Amino acid sequence: MVALVGVASLWLSNTLAAQRERLQTQARLQELLDTVERSARIACFLQDRQLAGEVSQGLLSNRIVAWVAIFAGATELTQASQRPATAGISAIDAPVDPESLIVRKIISPFNSDEIVGEIRLAPDRAEIERHVGQASYFIGILLIVQTMAVGVAVVLVVYGSITRALKQISGHLRNLPAEQGAKLPLPAGHETDEIGGLVTYTNRLVDRLVGLLNEERHLRLQREIEERKFRSIFENADTGIFLVDQSGNMLSYNPACREIVRAAGYLTEGTISGIAGFLGGNETEAQNLIEACYEEGNNIQRDIHLSGKNGKSDRWVHLTLSKIENVVFQGVANDITERKIAELAAQKSAMTDAMTGLLNRMGFETKLRSRIDQDYRQSGHGVALMLIDLDFFKQVNDTYGHDAGDRVLIHFSRLLESAVRKSDVIGRLGGDEFVILLDYIDRPDVLERIAQKIISSVAKPIDIGEGRTAHVGSSIGIAFEQGEAIDQDVLFKKADEAMYQAKQSGRNTYCLFTEAASQVTISSSPERYSS
Ligand code: GH3
Ligand code: MG
Repeated sequence: MVALVGVASLWLSNTLAAQRERLQTQARLQELLDTVERSARIACFLQDRQLAGEVSQGLLSNRIVAWVAIFAGATELTQASQRPATAGISAIDAPVDPESLIVRKIISPFNSDEIVGEIRLAPDRAEIERHVGQASYFIGILLIVQTMAVGVAVVLVVYGSITRALKQISGHLRNLPAEQGAKLPLPAGHETDEIGGLVTYTNRLVDRLVGLLNEERHLRLQREIEERKFRSIFENADTGIFLVDQSGNMLSYNPACREIVRAAGYLTEGTISGIAGFLGGNETEAQNLIEACYEEGNNIQRDIHLSGKNGKSDRWVHLTLSKIENVVFQGVANDITERKIAELAAQKSAMTDAMTGLLNRMGFETKLRSRIDQDYRQSGHGVALMLIDLDFFKQVNDTYGHDAGDRVLIHFSRLLESAVRKSDVIGRLGGDEFVILLDYIDRPDVLERIAQKIISSVAKPIDIGEGRTAHVGSSIGIAFEQGEAIDQDVLFKKADEAMYQAKQSGRNTYCLFTEAASQVTISSSPERYSS
């Protein structure tokens, strides 16, 4: 900066010096003309060439005059030049630059109003420039010395009062053990100036940063403790906890998840790759679950049945999925197998007749309803309901006791099972009344064959233990329906009516309810009781 300022001032002072030198030269030339003016008046007035020559020589004796010509009116009295050869002009015919030419009018010595001639004078430019150069040279030298002195002074002052102190501060800062409470020392002599202020404020900043760091360290420690606590809960929980992304891929899961999937025989590689692991590998179901959770924005809950694989038994899992971010879902999986087994057992026992092992009334009706809804209405196949009531069953009870009656009921149940197909549904409605749902019947004569088979097989003596045998018969009412109009209550009503008719017509027979006449057809029984 000092050098730049030096160069600029050098240029400025040179320009000013040159200008001043030129002005001074002009003034000197005018002074010269003033000096010779008196003699020039006389020379012009008298048209004295010799005097004019002396005047011009007098002027040329000054080195700054290059050329002089004196005129008396139009007559040239004299013309002379300083250095014809070096100036490049001839001694007599000087081609003078008209712009730099100085012309002084010469007034008559006797009449101040009369101009008797003029002096034309050309300054020596080279000589003037030499003067200017000399003046500039001295000023330049002076300025350079001055600039260098100022530069050195600035460097010394800046180093002594700023740089040295800053170097000290930066040296301390580099190795400052701030976390141990160390502070920057104040550089000597700078206690009250800006550098002292810089050190004081830096120390305050360091203090604040160390405070914040300690606080952050404390918080981090606390968070680590909390994390460890939660990780321990996560790792040791019996409940499966997991995170999945939007495609159902596992992001994280705890060991309980692995146990749940392993228990059903689905964990083969030791890792669960996605939520489909809880759905028996069903990727479509997994995607549906995530989409439902994403769209509803609420918890999605599902009881999932995992059919046991690789020799494992079936398991049930209760899955809860909730969206915690748009792309992350949190799941909780609980193995509910024990509860589900108990539930199913309770459900089964509520639907089963304990003594015969057949479906009870509720079980049968439930099954019938679902069969009608799912299969028959759409398929158009016929469905038949057979109501069977044992004849004179009370007598067995009365004669041989209740246990013997039970044995007959159990025996009859097995008879029914052997008389129909596995897909047919058999139920005990109560007492000695049984019911059979027969699938896919196209012709009613098939029903008649089955009814006859039941009647004849139950008519045989039944072993009731202790060498005793019981004799019972059966009356059967049959209802047959086909197409969309199948109705459970109507079926029961018709079968009941047909059974009533069978009883009425002497028992040990079957009746088929025919739609056309809303009448019951009483079929010939293999063997009627004698009245
Ligand atoms: P019907 O020919 O008119 O059918 O007369 P029934 O003697 O067979 O008597 P009914 O069908 O009217 O009554 C059924 C009897 O079955 C009534 C009841 O004493 C008896 N019973 C009901 N439940 C049981 C049972 O669980 N075990 C036994 N051993 N007997 C039962
Ligand atoms: Mg009966």
